[in-house]
Amino acid sequence: MEKLKVSDACIGCGLCVSQMEKYFEFNDEGLSHAKDVNVEEEDKKELLNIVESCPVGAIVIEEEKEA
Ligand code: SF4
Repeated sequence: MEKLKVSDACIGCGLCVSQMEKYFEFNDEGLSHAKDVNVEEEDKKELLNIVESCPVGAIVIEEEKEA
């Protein structure tokens, strides 16, 4: 399973939140964070588009490490 993360680089532009509320929401500081961190295969293409669209490259999808 892959995990979605939003780094401290987020500037709160709102793009990811407005495009995919299933995965992103604003925190109390008006910055985005990943809501549903398990990336579903069917959503991956759309998520990758958002990853590329983030103006500061704050969103990453990474393979979850086996424990
Ligand atoms: S698109 Fe990037 S900068 Fe904009 S709110 Fe989402 S993570 Fe933050």
